[in-house]
Amino acid sequence: MKKIGVLTSGGDSPGMNAAVRAVVRKAIYHNIEVYGIYQGYTGLMTGQIKKLELGSVGDIIHRGGTVLYSARSEEFKTEEGQKKGIEQLRKFGIEGIVVIGGDGSYRGAEKLTQHGFPCVGVPGTIDNDIPGTDFTIGFDTALNTVIDAIDKIRDTATSHERTYIIEVMGRHAGDIALWAGLAGGAETILIPEADYKMEEVISRLERGHERGKRHSIIVVAEGVGSAVDIGKQIESSLNIETRVSILGHIQRGGSPTAFDRVLASRLGARAVELLMAGKEGRAVGIQSNKLVDFSISEALSQKHEVDLSMYQLSTELSI
Ligand code: ADP
Repeated sequence: MKKIGVLTSGGDSPGMNAAVRAVVRKAIYHNIEVYGIYQGYTGLMTGQIKKLELGSVGDIIHRGGTVLYSARSEEFKTEEGQKKGIEQLRKFGIEGIVVIGGDGSYRGAEKLTQHGFPCVGVPGTIDNDIPGTDFTIGFDTALNTVIDAIDKIRDTATSHERTYIIEVMGRHAGDIALWAGLAGGAETILIPEADYKMEEVISRLERGHERGKRHSIIVVAEGVGSAVDIGKQIESSLNIETRVSILGHIQRGGSPTAFDRVLASRLGARAVELLMAGKEGRAVGIQSNKLVDFSISEALSQKHEVDLSMYQLSTELSI
């Protein structure tokens, strides 16, 4: 392979830049030309493609977001859109691409590979919801942003004797809520993968109150429901004041942590190695700190599982 491309797609995540840098530098190290495809699949279809040099990815390892920009494209979900993309790639003489993104982006990469164009996927999403890898690029940074927020909210919660409900990202995956709740010492964690009973949440609050706790922190993943509604239900059952904090998009931004930069560098470089070895339709990941690769279709046919033993631990530690 003499020419490869790289794009970032779907929801951006901190560390995507470090992955782009790794792809570019690793390819050039092996005398392969690299092309940046801007704005994800949208730019792929419209030919927003530019050759990248060593210096093109200088000074980006520490920056959040993605210098290649990202996009969501409905047109690319059609066969016509996918063929348009492949036409552009052929025009530039590109023989394979690295797709950095979440499961939606992986579906696009799977389709391109099925049409005969080699792709390798790199997991870039804060949600940590891609099967086959223990961690996705951006999860650790998002987690640290949430913990920073929880710590700050804890200070004011203690001062005013209040119950805080903190809503974090995760429509289908509870990883951010679970890890951040455990690391932040939350009394209660609500995730989409585990049923909960409001009566239990309330009796846990009551027990804490009786023991003289001055505050309580409840971390809820957005997929569970509205934090505002949960707050109202608590207020109507108990004579306590609640406050709600919806962290929103701050969880997506910021300088990537050392963990995410290292993960992105390792995975980005491995993706190039796979293309060089003529492998296609593969996704890279990390399992027990070892780099692995597996079929994108296989990954997409599986469901990401949250570690429920950690959920159990969180309830045991916050009795
Ligand atoms: P993420 O990659 O973060 O999960 P999305 O789900 O928005 O983000 O997917 C990113 C893009 O991938 C979509 O806008 C679309 O262009 C492409 N994509 C998603 N699903 C498919 C599909 N089934 N076939 C082809 N392309 C898809």
